[in-house]
Amino acid sequence: ILSGRAAVVTGAASGIGFAIASGLARAGAKVMVSDLREQAAQEAATQLQADGLEAAAVAADASQEHDLAHLVDVTRETFGTVDILVNNAGIQFVADLESFPTDKFRQMIDLMLVGPFLAIKHVFPVMKKQGFGRIINIASVNGLIGFAGKAAYNSAKHGVIGLTKVAALEGATCGITVNALCPGYVDTPLVRNQLADLAKTRNVPVERVLEEVIYPLVPQRRLLDPREVADYAVFLASDKARSVTGQAVVMDGGYVAQ
Ligand code: NAD
Repeated sequence: ILSGRAAVVTGAASGIGFAIASGLARAGAKVMVSDLREQAAQEAATQLQADGLEAAAVAADASQEHDLAHLVDVTRETFGTVDILVNNAGIQFVADLESFPTDKFRQMIDLMLVGPFLAIKHVFPVMKKQGFGRIINIASVNGLIGFAGKAAYNSAKHGVIGLTKVAALEGATCGITVNALCPGYVDTPLVRNQLADLAKTRNVPVERVLEEVIYPLVPQRRLLDPREVADYAVFLASDKARSVTGQAVVMDGGYVAQ
């Protein structure tokens, strides 16, 4: 359903970003795999190519305007245009407010809020001119509810949902839709690292952290598979989803229903 489309995904060498890059490519799109880690991005693109999919790689720090502008340019040069932008790159850091390092807070806002703003700013003229665009911002359930210890992450994710609504309004008459995806816990290296930290602090196996800390929060008592997020992203990127815009779409196994 995405044949002929050109897509760019940030933070696409791992986890949800890679699953989305792969899902878009499998749906027929040409995909620019972009990540801070250049070699990992290249390896991810090579993996997609090995499956007969159309992909290329470029290194980009998704918090830097220069890199994001370059990313849009390179994607246009490589694939002719940019139809789909997925702002996915993100990091986690947990600390109480009093001890939260100020530079860490700024870094996280730069990556997960200012970065998506800059990427949209640079891709909007292209999308407006062609009268088509799909922008998907990877937010989180932490964009809708608070979570103690995650001041920067929650602030950035709440912010990116606001940005999503504004961009949706500004793109509405130009064939551009802008949506945020809000996953709960997804089984990726980012979450596995958090689980490992918790297991270490409590001196218990990871399985017990899942049983005692995570599953009580999630009615379905499981982690999402990154491919579930990718499937939804593919739908949002397709023509079928043309009326869906400005939404924060929750996929969380029931987490925020409680
Ligand atoms: P991940 O750690 O598996 O992958 C993140 C990728 O982003 C890595 O490849 C990393 O190299 C890259 N990256 C980090 N800093 C970057 C930068 N400055 N510029 C470009 N790339 C950078 O993480 P994930 O779990 O797949 O998370 C992806 C997105 O999904 C994040 O925005 C995260 O907040 C969001 N999310 C994750 C979950 C979850 O449970 N895993 C839930 C909700 C939302």
